[in-house]
Amino acid sequence: MEPDKTHQDTGREELLQQARAIATRAYAPYSHFRVGAALRTITGEVYTGVNMENRSYGLTNCAERGAVQAAVAEGHRRFSEIAVVCLDAEQPTPPCGACRQVLSEFMDANAPVHFAAGDPEAVVSTTISGIYPFDSLHHLRDDTETKGR
Ligand SMILES: [Zn+2]
Repeated sequence: MEPDKTHQDTGREELLQQARAIATRAYAPYSHFRVGAALRTITGEVYTGVNMENRSYGLTNCAERGAVQAAVAEGHRRFSEIAVVCLDAEQPTPPCGACRQVLSEFMDANAPVHFAAGDPEAVVSTTISGIYPFDSLHHLRDDTETKGR
């Protein structure tokens, strides 16, 4: 896959590096599919998350939502960019459907989204609208609640 140079001026490499580093802390003893996410707030802070599995598979939580929860717990509600790295994937792995919905709650349609595989050269860069083009619940998003930092 050809690397996309479009978003490199937005701090993409730094965010990918943080996602790659935190992915080593993933708790993935069942899938062996270690994922890290690095989420940048509109005020420039970065929050990270990892996937956390459970022997009852349905309780598994994704790295992206872990990062969102950490940031929201610190009072942040608007995010400008996210990077997701799966150390054990051969191809860049995009956020799952649940994470697309959650990210769209706090990020604008044009916010950059990067996802990468174990190979640091295998990166796809797109946007929220690129991974979630048809948001049927868009009209329900409460922008007064997600304004602020
Ligand atoms: Zn997910």
